[in-house]
Amino acid sequence: MNLSQRDRAVIWHPFTPQKQMPDPIAVVKGAGEFLYDDQGNEYIDAISSWWVTLHGHAHPKIAEALYKQASTIEQVIFAGFTHEPAVQLAENLLPLLPGTFHKIFYSDNGSTSTEVAIKMSLQYWWNVNKEGGTRNEEGGSKKDPVSKGAADSGGERNEEERGRRTKVLAFNNSYHGDTFGAMSVSDRSVFTLAFQEKLFEVVFIDPPKKGDSLPDLNWKEFACFIYEPLVQGAGCMQFYEKDGLNALLSKCKEHQVICIADEVMTGFHRTGKLFASEYLAHTPDIICLSKGLTGGTMALGVTACVERIYQAFVTDDKLKTFFHGHSFTANPLACTAAVTSLELLQDSDCVARIERICKANTEFISSIKSDEAFVHTKNHRQLGTILAFEITSGKDEYLNSIGTTITKLALEKGVFIRPLGNTVYIMPPYCISEESLKKVYEVLREVVRSVR
Ligand SMILES: *Cc1c(COP(=O)(O)O)cnc(C)c1O
Repeated sequence: MNLSQRDRAVIWHPFTPQKQMPDPIAVVKGAGEFLYDDQGNEYIDAISSWWVTLHGHAHPKIAEALYKQASTIEQVIFAGFTHEPAVQLAENLLPLLPGTFHKIFYSDNGSTSTEVAIKMSLQYWWNVNKEGGTRNEEGGSKKDPVSKGAADSGGERNEEERGRRTKVLAFNNSYHGDTFGAMSVSDRSVFTLAFQEKLFEVVFIDPPKKGDSLPDLNWKEFACFIYEPLVQGAGCMQFYEKDGLNALLSKCKEHQVICIADEVMTGFHRTGKLFASEYLAHTPDIICLSKGLTGGTMALGVTACVERIYQAFVTDDKLKTFFHGHSFTANPLACTAAVTSLELLQDSDCVARIERICKANTEFISSIKSDEAFVHTKNHRQLGTILAFEITSGKDEYLNSIGTTITKLALEKGVFIRPLGNTVYIMPPYCISEESLKKVYEVLREVVRSVR
């Protein structure tokens, strides 16, 4: 039996309809932008293996750092213990984050990073409203720890604002992960259909469009607002209005609603800037990172928060502790990979390559507007290293099967892409050569033409 057949006997794959599932490709090696299978085929990984791989596969510098770390300390409990990679990563990351962040909380993937952000926000309001050792969930606490660090928030404060807030605000078409909390704050979609009644209530608003006015909401009721800045990734790479998001963030800030930027996908130069939040006028209070954090080599999640939030957990009252953690919180190998990936990212060479991809994407997008191969496509768009458009056949939805057809056709031509329904996109690793990038565009053109 070959690897694919052995796989079939024992494995259940994610996000994959199991009936008539095509044989999974058995990858035996990766190098730079290339993946190699057990049949000797070479594929350009044009979506960075689900948006994670920044510097290419099996990067020698990261591999070396991992080897060294694995033979030093590979894993240690993170309560009561610490280690160099975790501290160094936090030291290196904090000054790079968009805003004035105070503390890093580690977890081990994107879903847990958003789960932590939501729990942190809800408990923040629980903590600041809880007086002394007795619970006081209905508000009315006179001494208000929030005001200590909240000088930057501005705005009128009243009894209601001092009360415990439990509502969460999020965008329609959003995606923040697959665990229950993360699903709850994500759009109600085909991904969450089977769990509908088990998800907690969230107020959903549309991502802003040009000329939209602010939604009519009782802003003071909200504990937090979670958003993917500028690009909704799993929601079919939809882009939305910067000015509208600025207005929303401004309103949230005015009413002390905790702003959670989910940069799990957009982080680390995906949108051209180090973080998508850098395009915006307001910085988040909490930021969630994963995917590219380790250069896509190890599982790691980061939830960073501003001092105001952290201070609400610094107290003699043990009931105000943040009781959350995972076995592999701040795994030393993962942290080492992240430290090394950050170093590679700050290299001027890498920055130049990112700029080259951004520029090439811009040129490609403008060239397809008048290309007959693309007449049956729409919404041509690009932000940084992300490029996307829709095929006009069938419905605009994730279950549109044209994506599966396109994946198959492109693989035959040596390029791996995985459209979200009829949304075709690329998000290449930054190490991609000019030649490989040209090939990706060429294959896109051929494949799109052939599905007309
Ligand atoms: C992928 C993604 C997540 C979930 O991350 P996982 O590591 O897959 O759990 C959360 N938020 C956004 C914006 C994502 O793109």
